[in-house]
Order: sequence, then C-alpha cells, then structure tokens
Amino acid sequence: MPPFAARLLRWYEAARRDLPWRRSRDPWAIWVSEVMLQQTRVEAVKEPFARFLRSFPTPAAFAAASDDELLHAWRGLGYYRRARLLRDGARAVVARHGGAVPQDVEALGDLPGIGDYTRGAVASIAFGLAELAVDGNVERVAARHRGIRDGVDTAVGKRAVREAVTDWLDRDRAGDFNQALMELGATVCTPTSPACERCPVAADCQAKALGLTADLPVKKPKRAAVEVTARAVLVTGPGGLLGHRVPDGEPNAGQVDLPGEGPLRSVDAADLAGLLRQRFDARIALGPVLATAKHAITHHRITMHGHAATLAAGARATGRLQWFPLAGDAPWTTLARKLFRQALGADGTLRA
Ligand code: SF4
Repeated sequence: MPPFAARLLRWYEAARRDLPWRRSRDPWAIWVSEVMLQQTRVEAVKEPFARFLRSFPTPAAFAAASDDELLHAWRGLGYYRRARLLRDGARAVVARHGGAVPQDVEALGDLPGIGDYTRGAVASIAFGLAELAVDGNVERVAARHRGIRDGVDTAVGKRAVREAVTDWLDRDRAGDFNQALMELGATVCTPTSPACERCPVAADCQAKALGLTADLPVKKPKRAAVEVTARAVLVTGPGGLLGHRVPDGEPNAGQVDLPGEGPLRSVDAADLAGLLRQRFDARIALGPVLATAKHAITHHRITMHGHAATLAAGARATGRLQWFPLAGDAPWTTLARKLFRQALGADGTLRA
C-alpha cells in the first residue's frame, strides 16, 4: 500500500463521520447519495436520502416514478434537474441491465447522468473496483499536497491531479481510499482554513512546506454576480393560488411556479401586467408588494417581489394558469415557497 494511503486510511478509520450512506454497499444507494451530495450540504442530505430510499429502494421503483412523485421525493434538495437525470439513469438500468446497476465501469459510465466522478464513486465504493473518484475536495488536497500550480479546471491541472491520486490509490481498498480522501478535503483540508496541524499527510505536503495553502488550488475567477429583480403575482382563488407548470428547458422544469417574470430576468412593476397578458393570456390587476424573497441560482442574485393581485373582472383561470393548493404536495418552486412563508398569515391564508 502506498505510504500516503496508509497514513490516510489510518486517520480515516479513527476520524470518519458516521453518515447513513456509508453504512451501505448497495450501488443504487451509493449512486443516490452521490447525486444528492452534488451541490448540497451533507447535513441537508441525511433525511431526504433515507426518505427517498424508503420510497424508491431500487432503480426500477424510481424508474416508474411520475414527475410529481419525483418532485415530492426530492423536496428540500433543490436542483431538480439532478433528480430527472437520476430517473433517466434508473430507466436505462431497467431497459439495458434488467434493473441491476452494472458492475462494468464502461456500462456504468454510459448511463444518463453518470459522469466521471459518480462512476468512480459507485464503482469503487459499491463494487470495490480500483477507480478514482475526483471531486472538488480531492482536487484541493491533491493540488495542495503536490503543489500543482496549474488551474485544476485546466486540462494540465486535471491530469496532474489524477496522476497524484493514481499514485496514492490503495487498489485493494479503493472505496475506502476515495472516501477518505474526500473526507480529508471536507473536514481538514478545507477551502479557506486548512487544519494542517491535524492532517495525517502533512509531513510531505508541498503547500504547507512552501506556505501556499491559501494560493492552491488555482481556479478560474468566479463570474461576476448578476443582480436580478424578478416579480410574481399572488392571486388567491377557489383552489388555492394561481400557478403554472414550468415548461421543459427552463429552470425548475416540472415544478409549479407563480405567474411572473423570472427568476433570471428582471422586470419593472409597471410592465408585469402586460407581460402576464402576453405570456398567459391572463388579465391580472396588480397590487402592492406583499412579500420579498432573496435567492441565488448560479451567479444570479435574485430579489423576488410577490405582488398581491386579482384576476380582472370577468377573467378566469384558463390555459396554462390553474389553481394549485398552497399546502400539501403541490411542487411549488423554492422561491414561491419563500414568498409564501412571508405572505401567509397565522391562519394559513395570504395576508391582504
Ligand atoms: S498539510 Fe494542510 S494543505 Fe497539506 S494536505 Fe494537509 S491540510 Fe491540506
């Protein structure tokens, strides 16, 4: 076993967090956890992970899920596109592999929604194959430990990271090794304040020796934030609130959203009623702002105003606009729910 792996695994056995997905070797459970953990904090994944597997214990069960069941199962996690890709992958497992997640690395990588990282994680953790699983945590440890000055998002930098991890890999315990390296990046070699004094591989770390921990890894500068002022209307009626299903190809596709403009485009209050008429063929009389919510999607910093509004005299909810219940299972977008939290009175109805 390479000395790096020996030190790392000894540390991991003592320091590892007890996380629900680490108690399983079921490839479906590992796959689900890896998808949920993309862009979501560990703490926020624990409960949805257990709940999801109770509802969908196998790829076949999830392959048969309707859009609403999918949205319900994924609630609290956001980034619903991941769930749709996971269902595409589950359907491919059923169609191509009789419902069993394939052990073959190529077949695994050919499934929809499985990129290099997820393929390596499932292959190594579930099947014990000697595959790398390089996520952002691993990139950071490798760039610092090896003193890699090329950007980790460049081809040269990526190659250097993979070479480092290949050198270190314990081929007999690849699953534990990959998880240990990720754990080191998540809990010790953290982005802003690495705890080098308790790092098991500090003795030969280049960044530590050269005082470069704050400079590595080198990354592309972040895109400048774009401020967006979006608006939506809160119209109450017989069946709850007026809403519409977000079409495919738009952010939050398949969820229910309030009629409005956004979340990625700004609109003036004076233009909103005209825009709703154009887009939904709806005649809506706009009132004052009832609630304001902040939200971020990639580099967009969104301020969403929810206006009190009514259907103009004689107008009905038709076409794309329908009544959706406020409570229960209607898959409202996160932003809409944020507005509801502010706009609802103690009795569960909208404040006038
Ligand atoms: S010594 Fe510090 S910088 Fe180097 S790998 Fe460990 S925690 Fe990261």
